Amino acid sequence: ATLRDLLASGGRSYSFEFFPPKTDEGERTLFETIRQLEPLAPTFVSVTYGAGGSTRDRTVRIVERIATETTLTAVGHLTCVSSSRADLRSVIGSFAGAGIRNVLALRGDPPGGPGAPWESHPEGLEHADELVRLLRELGDFCVGVAAFPEGHPESPDLDSDAKYLALKAAAGADFAVTQFFFDADDYFRLVDRAGAHGCTIPILPGIMPVTNLSQIQRFAELSGAAFPAALAERLQAVADDPAEVRRIGVEFATELCSKLLDGGAPGLHFYTLNRSTSTLQIYQALGLGPARTDTTS
Ligand code: FAD
Repeated sequence: ATLRDLLASGGRSYSFEFFPPKTDEGERTLFETIRQLEPLAPTFVSVTYGAGGSTRDRTVRIVERIATETTLTAVGHLTCVSSSRADLRSVIGSFAGAGIRNVLALRGDPPGGPGAPWESHPEGLEHADELVRLLRELGDFCVGVAAFPEGHPESPDLDSDAKYLALKAAAGADFAVTQFFFDADDYFRLVDRAGAHGCTIPILPGIMPVTNLSQIQRFAELSGAAFPAALAERLQAVADDPAEVRRIGVEFATELCSKLLDGGAPGLHFYTLNRSTSTLQIYQALGLGPARTDTTS
């Protein structure tokens, strides 16, 4: 079965996200991580696309390496930033040429950085729903999109953001992956809002385990996600003990995953930061075995 078939069948999906390394050493570390995570048999792994389209070639190459050198199903991210339609067609052609049929279609952050006003390329696309349509026109891609449990930072309110998620589903998206968040209720409320707009595609919750204190501030700035004060306090209290910080971060993420699965979430998507430890520990704590392995592309 393809990734699309698996997701459509209602099976749970477990996935791991990586970023394309800048150096050869980073690439070796990533492939070690991938080898360590491969026995968990995730439904898919995905590779991000750098800000401003800066990693275009590296993203395609890493996704292709994963697809050819491992047993894993690979998903390539793609953004509209600083790209004309012709540029996007050409990247989509590279994915197809490399045998990659699964793409996470994103608008991308404003070229001036998160917080700056969004500016589309004069011959480019304005929003992710247009990229979903472009992918659909160009081939038989399984397409994912982004979703935001606490609302996208540029959205005036949560409901209009959910309406645009539904628009991306109507444009042909097969699934969505969320930004990370720390309160399971934010996720379930998003699923409800999207459902009220007729969006029924699986929405996979994104999990970011906190493994060191310096991440707290950075994560909140990046995503606009509210960092829970109680967790911040617990972590600050053990600031001089990195192993304890990590243990608490993994424990918190494990509890979040449990609540999500118990509440009926269609799977979990782990932001790995190219490391395997937290994901392996959460899997073990949850008693999760290898996921279904019956995807072929
Ligand atoms: P859109 O869906 O276009 O939404 C952007 C804003 O416009 C939202 O406020 C939305 O409510 C609104 N909107 C949407 N459609 C319409 C419409 N038709 N008309 C009017 N308003 C609309 N960034 C990268 O650069 N590389 C990556 O690899 C990457 N991977 C990501 C993976 C995940 C799982 C997530 C959650 C985010 C990722 N991002 C990545 C970040 C993402 O690109 C930014 O959050 C970006 O600002 C929004 O992208 P989007 O696809 O949600 O955009």
